[in-house]
Amino acid sequence: MRIKRDKRTEDKYLEKIRQSYESRIRDGVHVSDLLDPRMAYFKRLFPLGITDREIGYFLSGECLHWAVQKRLGLETEKKIELDGVEGSIDVYLEKIPTELKSARNWTIPDLPAEHYVDQVLSYCAITGSRIGNIWVFFLCPNRNYTGTKLTHPEFRLWRCEFTASELAQERKRLKTVKNILERAWKTKNFSRVPLCHEFKCYYKSRGKATISCPYWDKCRPPGRFNPKTGGVLVSD
Ligand code: SF4
Repeated sequence: MRIKRDKRTEDKYLEKIRQSYESRIRDGVHVSDLLDPRMAYFKRLFPLGITDREIGYFLSGECLHWAVQKRLGLETEKKIELDGVEGSIDVYLEKIPTELKSARNWTIPDLPAEHYVDQVLSYCAITGSRIGNIWVFFLCPNRNYTGTKLTHPEFRLWRCEFTASELAQERKRLKTVKNILERAWKTKNFSRVPLCHEFKCYYKSRGKATISCPYWDKCRPPGRFNPKTGGVLVSD
C-alpha cells in the first residue's frame, strides 16, 4: 500500500470553499460590524481575500452549528433586525438566543470571554430577551506542552441575564456606532470609528505578542499595546 498527501485535490477543494465564502460577502450593517467597527470599516473599503486560517475557523464553526442543531432538533440560524442592524442568532435554545462557539483554550475559564458576552448582549438587545446563552465547545481543554496528557472536548453553557437598562443602553450603542460607521464609509475617514476588541489587534502566546490584524498599519489603534515596539500607540 502507498499513501501520500494529495495536495492538488486538497488545494482544489480549499479554493472552492474559499470562493463559496467570498461569494457571500454581505452589505448592510451587521451586529458583528458593530462589535469590531474599525475592522468593519477597513474590510468594506479594503477587502482582502479569505485566508486559509479563516476558512479553518469558519468551517469548524459551521460544523458545530449544524451538528448541535441536528442532534437537538433545534431551529436553524435565526435572522434578526432592528433599525437597520442585522444579526443572525445561532440557535434558540428553550426560546433563548444562544451563541454556539468552539474554542481551543487549554484552560476552561470560570466566565465566558468578554466578546462572547458582548455579542449575546447585542442579540438580546435586538430581540428584547433579558436572557442569553453562551455555549462553548472547548476542543482541547487541559492540554499541556509536553503532549503527555490525554484530553477530551468539553461543553460549558453560561446563562447571561441583562437588565432592561443594559438592553436599552446597548440598543443606543448599536444605533450610534452604525451611524458613525456609515458616515466613515462615505467620507473615508475612520477617526471616530471605535476600536475593536483588543484581541483582534494582536495575540499573545508564551509571552510574545504578534500582530494579527491585517489592517494594523492603516489603523494604528491609539492607546493599544504595540507589539512592534513594546510600547503603547499614541494618536497621530
Ligand atoms: S488594528 Fe485593531 S482596532 Fe484597528 S482594525 Fe485592526 S483589530 Fe481593529
